[in-house]
Amino acid sequence: ARIENGKIELNEKILDLQTQFNETVDMFQIDMDKKNITFNHSIDIIDNMVEADSLRTKQIVLNLIGNALKYTREGGTIWFEIKQKDPAVNGFANYEIRIKDTGIGMSEEFQKHLFDLFERENRSSVTGVQGTGLGLAITKRLVELMNGEVSCNSTLGKGTEFICSVRLKVANSDYVEEDNEDIDLSMLEGKKVLLVEDNDLNREIAKSILEDVGMQVEEATDGTIAVELLGSKKGNKYEKTEA
Ligand code: ATP
Ligand code: MG
Repeated sequence: ARIENGKIELNEKILDLQTQFNETVDMFQIDMDKKNITFNHSIDIIDNMVEADSLRTKQIVLNLIGNALKYTREGGTIWFEIKQKDPAVNGFANYEIRIKDTGIGMSEEFQKHLFDLFERENRSSVTGVQGTGLGLAITKRLVELMNGEVSCNSTLGKGTEFICSVRLKVANSDYVEEDNEDIDLSMLEGKKVLLVEDNDLNREIAKSILEDVGMQVEEATDGTIAVELLGSKKGNKYEKTEA
């Protein structure tokens, strides 16, 4: 009801598709193993960072994989794929999410009502699978809220495939690339730098970036140590540059 009243707004932030993909795979792996289902997954994208609503994109994928898992018998196979269809143009790229299973499939007749509220195929209750028939109705509305489309191919007794196509804004990739091209980093080569950072991981990352451009890195884990190091060298050791 909240979607229909226009009360759900997308909260678009920078989203790391690869990370969300990995988290989703991890989340389902145990249940797939329990049902002895082979879970194949692949991600093939160029632009990983996009601007999208992470909660809603996750909800779409969870509904579809959740269904695949519910309506596939023991020993079946499920595929989960994310693919970028083409390189970004004007900051936008088309992505396709496919979720395919070798489950019970759906009749042609039922497929006409598939995305309606509270629709469930009779056989689902026969197989004893619980549900309210809301998952797909919500999924379709969320995909449409993102100006995307969702379609379904299904054959009774054979399996089902859902395909969601969404167009997403790529996060800043243009000027990240330009930045790298514009700055001449050769002036940093061989220079000494004092890196002050208390977080171990951040320090390690920063060190490796600085070393990549040829700098000699000394590390300080807090301000006191940094000041001591500066004092001991009378401030002469670390050179000032314009970069
Ligand atoms: P819930 O609201 O908990 O998601 P649900 O799974 O029954 O309940 P939907 O996700 O909307 O509801 O799915 C509607 C119906 O479509 C299901 O009851 C089932 O009959 C059919 N269906 C959906 N996905 C599949 C699938 N992968 N294979 C076979 N049937 C499916
Ligand atoms: Mg469902």
